[in-house]
Amino acid sequence: MFKYSDSNKRYYTLDYFYKHKFNSKVFKVSLDGGFTCPNKDGTKGIGGCIYCSKSGSAEYAGDKKDDIVTQFNKIKEMMLRKWPNAKYIGYFQANSNTYASVSKLKELYEPILLQDNVVGLSIATRADAISEECLDYLSDLNTRTYLTIELGLQTIHESTSKLINRCHTLDEFESMVLKLREKGINVVVHIINGLPYETHDMMIDTVKYLSDLDIQGIKIHALSILKDTTLEKMFNETHFKVMTREEYIQTVCDQLEYLRENIVVHRITGDPKIDDLIKPNWLIKKVTIINDIDKEMKKRNSYQGIKYKK
Ligand code: SF4
Repeated sequence: MFKYSDSNKRYYTLDYFYKHKFNSKVFKVSLDGGFTCPNKDGTKGIGGCIYCSKSGSAEYAGDKKDDIVTQFNKIKEMMLRKWPNAKYIGYFQANSNTYASVSKLKELYEPILLQDNVVGLSIATRADAISEECLDYLSDLNTRTYLTIELGLQTIHESTSKLINRCHTLDEFESMVLKLREKGINVVVHIINGLPYETHDMMIDTVKYLSDLDIQGIKIHALSILKDTTLEKMFNETHFKVMTREEYIQTVCDQLEYLRENIVVHRITGDPKIDDLIKPNWLIKKVTIINDIDKEMKKRNSYQGIKYKK
């Protein structure tokens, strides 16, 4: 059996990690703090990453018209029906959630920490949207709660990064990972498989690079072409090749084999809203993809990190 598993999983799932860290079921309550993004407002770029949705890549977050505690309570109530004794992590998901003054960040983060059974905060952002002052505040937060900063990277390849309009460099990303780690803050990195014109080897190289960095978690997404995005326009104009379901499963299993064994896998596929999805259609059946990844790992008699070399 894989070292970080007590089930059929051959990789280190978030569920396993939470269960062992908090001795409880933990779920993330996804929130929209009304942030924007330096890649949308012209500070770093205009229009944002080409795949970014209207909601700032947070399809299941609370309603930003509600104050943050109301959002938290509404989502918590829904999830409690399924897991009555769970604990929570407040998840600031929509857009870049450190892109505001520290006083504004405090107004949003601190009330969540005061809610019963909140054991941590997860904050999704970009490497170039964390000021030095913010870093000091995050460092303080990290002494008071279980804090995770989620950084979008998507790919290590400059050509793809330009094509998808990320508007930050790999150096900026790496230097922020180092700064966060100096403060002892947990880092989770988002990557996307199936970006236009990326080859299988390019996707593997992104994971190999991350395995050598001091990160604690990874989110592996499948590229979703969503309605009303620049990506949809690009797809209609160029018909770039979209990954097949089988290619996705094989690529993820290959990536898991190269992924350092103690990096927690927070996500292994995408979860788009059906009504927004243009392609690929196979993404709708998320559970079957996860099951088929498990089956493929079993068929290979493989597990996370089997090919990782320091
Ligand atoms: S960095 Fe995130 S929020 Fe900003 S444009 Fe890109 S995907 Fe959207």
